[in-house]
Amino acid sequence: MLRSLLATLSFALVLTFAGCDSAASRATAATAADSTPAPVLPALTPGPDGKVRLTDAEWRQRLTPEQYRILRDAGTERACSGAYWKAEGTPGVYHCAACGLALFNAQTKFDSGTGWPSFYQPIEKGRILERTDTTLGMVRTETLCFRCESHLGHSFDDGPAPTGLRYCMNSGALIFVPAVKAQP
Ligand SMILES: [Zn+2]
Repeated sequence: MLRSLLATLSFALVLTFAGCDSAASRATAATAADSTPAPVLPALTPGPDGKVRLTDAEWRQRLTPEQYRILRDAGTERACSGAYWKAEGTPGVYHCAACGLALFNAQTKFDSGTGWPSFYQPIEKGRILERTDTTLGMVRTETLCFRCESHLGHSFDDGPAPTGLRYCMNSGALIFVPAVKAQP
């Protein structure tokens, strides 16, 4: 009980300090390089079981050091520093930056005020794997890409309607592909 209360409190503190209203301009100035989206890599073809498996050396070769730190080493980018933390209205799809699997429709993105891109549901539930993460003295739900099992972020049950879920992602784990405009 005490432990869970402490975990809740410490997480609330993390969120408080991550508030972007005061930190936004500072973060933008300090991390301009971080906020440039990474180039789209060719999607990897899954095997018969729907999985993509690369060796650690192959992942290091394919990904930038920051992408590798987040996706393959369960890292977290600084709040308000990534390319996608601001909620924008551009239609399109967010893909796994490691393997290219389409994960979130931009229509399900919302402003969570946390400084990380947030969605209330994935394109399909089966595209996201979940497992319990007990690091940092908290019990959280880690989310991973189903296809390549790379770390994406965490999910929480304090999101908006219609799901009540908040998929709190790292920008560095995602690649946004804007919808192609129909020709007039
Ligand atoms: Zn993936």
